[in-house]
Formats: sequence, C-alpha cells, structure tokens
Amino acid sequence: MKLTRRGFNAAAGAAGLTLGLGTATQVFGAGDAKPKVVVIGGGTGGATAARYVAKDSKGGIDVTLIEPTKRYYTCYFSNLYIGGFRDYESLGHSYDKLASEYGINVVHDWAVSVDRKKKVVVLGSGAMVPYDKLIVSPGIDLKFESVAEGYSLADQAIYPHAWKSGTQAKLLKAKVEGMKQGGTFVMVPPPNPFRCPPGPYERISMIANYFKKNNPKAKIIVLDPKDKFSKMGLFKDGWERHYKGMIDWMPLSTLGGLKGIDTSTGEFKTDLDTFKADAGCVIPANTSGHIARIAGLANDKGWCPIEPASMKSQVDGDIYVIGDASVASAMPKSGFSANSQAKVCAMAVRGELTKSKVFPAKFANTCWSLIGPDDGIKVGATYKAGAKKIEPTAKFISKTGEDADLRKATYEESVGWYDGITKDIFG
Ligand SMILES: Cc1cc2nc3c(=O)[nH]c(=O)nc-3n(C[C@H](O)[C@H](O)[C@H](O)COP(=O)(O)OP(=O)(O)OC[C@H]3O[C@@H](n4cnc5c(N)ncnc54)[C@H](O)[C@@H]3O)c2cc1C
Repeated sequence: MKLTRRGFNAAAGAAGLTLGLGTATQVFGAGDAKPKVVVIGGGTGGATAARYVAKDSKGGIDVTLIEPTKRYYTCYFSNLYIGGFRDYESLGHSYDKLASEYGINVVHDWAVSVDRKKKVVVLGSGAMVPYDKLIVSPGIDLKFESVAEGYSLADQAIYPHAWKSGTQAKLLKAKVEGMKQGGTFVMVPPPNPFRCPPGPYERISMIANYFKKNNPKAKIIVLDPKDKFSKMGLFKDGWERHYKGMIDWMPLSTLGGLKGIDTSTGEFKTDLDTFKADAGCVIPANTSGHIARIAGLANDKGWCPIEPASMKSQVDGDIYVIGDASVASAMPKSGFSANSQAKVCAMAVRGELTKSKVFPAKFANTCWSLIGPDDGIKVGATYKAGAKKIEPTAKFISKTGEDADLRKATYEESVGWYDGITKDIFG
C-alpha cells in the first residue's frame, strides 16, 4: 500500500515528522527495494530495537520508529527524582541521534491500528506505513476501573500513579511535597503482574526519605493487594533502619482487599478499616499497551505471547513483541529486560530479512533500588530461550546486613547502569 503525496504531507505536518536519511517517499517505502522494519513505541524496548536493526544492518534495512512524544522520560530513576536525588530533566532523552546518526525515520505520531493482512500500520494522521517486519513495544496501559469502587481515570489527578513515562511523576512529587505536616500518605501498589516489581517499594522508600527530612511526623500507609513483594526482606529491613515507625505496610491477607475509594473525603475502605489520606499514590493493575491488544497480539490475560528464541509473536510470524507488553515468563517487566529482549529481537529480524547470522538468545536483567542515601540493593538473573519459555540460568540478590560500602557501591553501579542503558537506547 502506498502513501499518496497528499497523505504524506498531511502526515508529516500533523505528526511533526522527523526524517532520518530519506526523502518523503522513502519514509513510507514507496518503491524502495530495501526491506522495511517498523517499530511501534519509542520507549526502552522499541528505541533499542530500532537502533540495533539500523546500526547492525548498516543501511541495509529501512527502519521507521513511531512514537508520539518528542522526548522520552524514563520511569527508571523517577522514584529518585521524587526522593530528591535527581532532577526531572536528567530523566529526559531525545530521538535526534536515532535520526541523524542511525538514519532511522522517527515519526512522532500514534499508531492507531495494524492491518496484519496488508502489513500496514495506520497512524493517527491517517498515514499508512507498510512493513516487512513489525516490532511492537508499546509498554503498558493501566486498568483504572480495577482499583476499587469509586475510582476512575480522572482520579489519577488526585492520586497520581506515575507509572508511565511523563509528567505524572512531577504531579506525584508535588503531592508529596504539598502534604500537610504530620499527614497520612496512602500508597496502593498494583496486583501482579506489573512493570518494575520492586518499583512501588522503592517509591515508598523515596517518599519516606523526603518526609524524614521535611515532614518527620508524616505516616505512609501501604494498602497492598498482595501478600508479598520483590526484595521484601531487604526493603522491610531498610525501612526499619531508615524510617522506623513511619511506614505501615498492610498485605491483602490483613486488609481483605480495597473495597472503595471516596476521592471527595480521601477515604480508602478495606475490610479491616477505613484509612483517611491527606495525599496518595494509586497504581492500577497493568495490561499491555492498547495497540498490542487491538492488533490481536494479546492473550485473554492481556499480555502478548512470544517465541523465546526471537521474541516473535505467537500470533503473527511477521510481528515481534518486546518489553512490558510481552509474556517473558521468568523475566520481570523492566527496562533492563526490554533492552535485552530488543537486542535478541533485532538480531532475529535482521537474520530473517538479510540472512545475517543469528546466535542463540541470551537475556539478562538487574533491578536496582535505592532505600535511603547510598543504600542500594539489587536483584537479577541471566536467562536463555527454553523450548516454550524464557528460563533463568543464574540468579543473584543483595543480602540483609551488607556493609555500607557495598550498599554504596551497589547504588553507584545503578547510576552507571542508567548512563549506559540510556546511551545504548538513544545512541
Ligand atoms: C517508577 C518506575 C521505576 C522503574 N524503575 C526501573 C528500574 O530501575 N530498572 C528497570 O530496568 N526498569 C524500571 N522500570 C520499568 C521500565 O520503565 C519499563 O519496564 C520499560 O520502560 C519497558 O519498556 P517498553 O519499551 O516495554 O515500554 P516503555 O518504555 O513504556 O515504552 C513504550 C512507548 O510506546 C509508546 N506508545 C504506546 N502506544 C503507542 C502507540 N499506539 N503508537 C506509538 N507509540 C506508542 C509510548 O509513548 C512509550 O514511549 C520502572 C518503572 C516505573 C514505573
């Protein structure tokens, strides 16, 4: 399917189209003999995949990256921003190098549908982008209606989730800083599975760190829809050491679940009691990004099954799903994982399109968390592609009682990781 010149102009104008190497017609591949890879989502998974396909094919493959925002703000380290350890702009990354140095056609628009029969992605502007291989990395959507009676999408302005890239993190920080002295902050983590399993608990630590300095009589009440969480022993040990008496974590078995939220009074109702919030953070259940679901790539649980050796969709042989939207079995939904899966996927895509050599898939993940100043912990693993699932090959985790030097080194390692991965994603 070709894009007409009129259609292209409209698309370029409406979408603020950024061109890489090509001319207008090359962007959408009319008459171009090169194989075409289209990537939906310029976050951690998508931007890595686009860069690796472009870089390693050395101009042999036409790569188009579709992403609505012009600057990507990482969720990773956004907790550190809330805790006062980073500034907001340090989380932002531009797409300029992907276009200027790697020749990727970066198109700032939404992918609104995928015509899998015709192998075309339809953009919000109406433009159509044909592909030979499509890589889908739209991250997550939030199931606002699943939280509790009385809670809906509009309430994200009152109790920000800050669980997707963008300004919600700023809003949450303002809520934390604006809470009255000695007030109660209510935190509702999401049920499994969700992106960044230690993330809500690092966030609790960072909010507590802010309160310790600026609002020392404040309390944090955690109404958890689960009975356990990632690095639980390490976090609880850290909370006891840094924030004694400030954090009250309540599991599902104690609460009996969240039954309702009255946003006008700040009341959170559970079987156990009703808790009154002066400020709060509610993170709804996660599901795969809308575009993956409407393209028919998701299972009945809302996540996209893949073949472990390549991240190819189990539903469509010309589509790959990477990052949080995929079913990556033992691998947690993290930026580290998405970046690692993107490289496996890029190699497989190149192999299919240019017959380049494909090596056995190897994946890795580490999730670092900061509990207090210079008190870093981590959990991680390496993985291989099993016959049906991605399987761990080795695991590691920090231990309670580690000395302060090791914890500081772990934190510093995470800062090095951040600098390294963002360079690996955006060039
Ligand atoms: C508070 C917090 C802390 C975290 N900390 C860590 C950490 O320390 N380490 C770590 O490894 N991970 C961490 N994560 C997890 C990490 O952010 C995600 O796992 C990672 O971003 C997943 O990458 P992705 O490509 O799947 O999705 P994303 O990075 O979210 O990218 C998805 C992109 O797709 C775009 N998109 C969506 N729909 C469309 C569409 N229809 N058309 C075009 N584009 C579309 C979006 O605009 C977005 O840019 C954290 C997450 C949170 C919330």
